[in-house]
Amino acid sequence: MTNTWFLIGLDDTDAPDGMCTTWLGAVLATILEKSGMKVFSSRLVRLNPTVPYKTRGNAAISLCVRGDPDYAFSIASGLVEKFAALSCENTHPGIVVGLQKPPADFYWKAVQSHCRIDEARDFLARYALRFLGYKLGRGLIGATAAVCSEFPDFTWEYLAYRHPGRLYTPRQVDAESLRLSEEQTSPHTWDTWDTDMKGPVCVPHTPDPVLFGIRGDSPFSVAHAVSMVRSEGADLARIWKTNQGTDAHLVFYAGSLLTEGISYLIRGRVHGTPKTGKGGHVIFPLKICDHQIHCMAFEPTKKFRDIVRSLRPGDEILVAGSYLKNTLNLEKMYVFSAEPYISVRAPICPACQKRMTSAGSGKGYKCRRCGNRTTNPEHIIEKRTISSGWYEVPPGARRHLSRPIVRGYVEPHPSYLPSSRKKGC
Ligand code: ATP
Repeated sequence: MTNTWFLIGLDDTDAPDGMCTTWLGAVLATILEKSGMKVFSSRLVRLNPTVPYKTRGNAAISLCVRGDPDYAFSIASGLVEKFAALSCENTHPGIVVGLQKPPADFYWKAVQSHCRIDEARDFLARYALRFLGYKLGRGLIGATAAVCSEFPDFTWEYLAYRHPGRLYTPRQVDAESLRLSEEQTSPHTWDTWDTDMKGPVCVPHTPDPVLFGIRGDSPFSVAHAVSMVRSEGADLARIWKTNQGTDAHLVFYAGSLLTEGISYLIRGRVHGTPKTGKGGHVIFPLKICDHQIHCMAFEPTKKFRDIVRSLRPGDEILVAGSYLKNTLNLEKMYVFSAEPYISVRAPICPACQKRMTSAGSGKGYKCRRCGNRTTNPEHIIEKRTISSGWYEVPPGARRHLSRPIVRGYVEPHPSYLPSSRKKGC
């Protein structure tokens, strides 16, 4: 048996009705450890949240191991053949083994943009020791990205997995223990409990092997939080180092045309009063440089929509979200300024004490009773309910990659200072 450093990546093993690549990764890591190999790092790597092929959260995994790469490869392929949902038409697993860490460019492209399968194969031909794609082999994209991932910022997630015999039965996790666990470990853990919804957000509702996941800023924090959780016994658990909660998917908007399926951080000015549309989604126009886009806060973002509704034309904001169907789907925003908002309406007629009406476009106002005319409207100064700062969607609506505000206040990047303090658009 050889004994060397290697990286192994896996992706695309699950289907909507079961399985989870992180579970397969945890099983693989456990088998490698039991065989005497050392697993130095287990990575849960989230990739572009807008790719249409994803089953749930577009996750891939990679392990950094010391041991025998060929043996690990054979164990991984055996596990994929035994457990991957190969009969599902959208499941196309990929396994990658490398003796060195390839350049991170492929990772950044996979987390911020779109990759092709042949691109992954070409990259692997240059850098991988061995790789194997099943069916279309689309999972090679995620497996490659996981192996060459670099985390300038990272968080941790403790994932507990269910006993195979309990799959498809309701999960037994005591909600109150989750609430207390977050209360006692916050701000070092997050996204366990939604205070507004008064319910847990760390227990999935999908038929996969995950029992619950606790997210936090260190392996200690998440393990400490888990020690307070009362639940059915877990069959397996692993603490993953992850790019979740880091905003790795956000691209700073640099004044070019927006591309469908990319997630951006954009500075602009609110260009119209937000409106609540069908289904409770809230939409408003944002002016950026010399063009305009629409920003949307979807119904599941709940109270965040009230913040969005309180924006007024002229407010200078920074928005983060995915650009899909010509709309930016809001994840969070920073409000630079919310000046008193002055709107106008028809004045009261001084003679009749009745409200006047518009005399036509650009023609001022007219009293329908006495015929009095004026060009001076009544000015209404609206007291603002929103102030400068960050606002985000609630935990239940958060993208895995979105950096929660609880991780600390982050000054907006200097290139996003309000236009009054900056030249150009
Ligand atoms: P799983 O738990 O099995 O990983 P998932 O929700 O993470 O489920 P997958 O079933 O892995 O989603 O499907 C995502 C597919 O999209 C994978 O084949 C992955 O390789 C591919 N993929 C990931 N990122 C990109 C990208 N940026 N461009 C193109 N394909 C991508």
